[in-house]
Amino acid sequence: MKISTIAVIMAMADEAKPFIEALGLKPAVSAFDSRLPMEVYTGAVEKAEVVLVVGGKDRRFGVDNVGTQPATLSTYLAIDTFKPDLLINAGTAGGFKSKGADIGDVYIGSDSIRFHDRRIPIPGFAAYGIGSYRTPDVDDVATALGLKKGVVSTGNSLDMLPEDRLVIQANQGVVKEMEAAAIAWVADLYQIPLIALKSITDLVDTDTPTQDDFLKNLNLASEKLQEKLTAAIYYFAGNERPFADDTSLAS
Ligand code: SAH
Repeated sequence: MKISTIAVIMAMADEAKPFIEALGLKPAVSAFDSRLPMEVYTGAVEKAEVVLVVGGKDRRFGVDNVGTQPATLSTYLAIDTFKPDLLINAGTAGGFKSKGADIGDVYIGSDSIRFHDRRIPIPGFAAYGIGSYRTPDVDDVATALGLKKGVVSTGNSLDMLPEDRLVIQANQGVVKEMEAAAIAWVADLYQIPLIALKSITDLVDTDTPTQDDFLKNLNLASEKLQEKLTAAIYYFAGNERPFADDTSLAS
């Protein structure tokens, strides 16, 4: 498979800004129904088309549309409109000091992407809740770009309840964020490979409150994210054998 259209899905405007500037992406104003908050930018890297969908602002609350529902919708719209052959979910995330994370480290999701806050203790539904969407084999790209690797774990809260902590541990999660597993669900429906790139804004197993770390480090982490995301796009654009094993998304 040759990668000719890459769709990048991001939640927050501040995360996206350095990337839009670095690639000189231009707004595509009427790409989606005008009632939707999502913002679309397009551009080109070598022979590949690059599309960026950002969640936009919530009409009532005025804040960025973070979390799983907007991410699901952004991904559906990106796929339906632009027919990408690769999806990249790029954003910020919490890391674990105990697992060697530092602020500004950029991880690529490896192995599987899982949910940690969908606890449904009914036969069959428990596993459905966790999701476990397989990632492509990212060893080559991780080595080429100097990325850390790990399981990305998704939930709809910035904080971490004791229950969440236990599930993240059981999930072998090393990156905690709020969108990737939702995007992986849509990617799996359409059988489009998904890469998750996550830059660490906060360390969830230290004493500093997550939100303080997050706000302090958002700009630094978004700049680091931009560097790796741009490098990833150059790596994938036109690449005929992007992953070490040829399977894309087999869950
Ligand atoms: N308080 C922030 C809200 C952002 S929500 C603000 O004022 O702007 C956090 C966003 O960053 C989500 O999109 C999520 O994917 C990511 N994120 C960063 N650190 C996280 C963490 N420790 N836990 C969950 N999500 C995190």
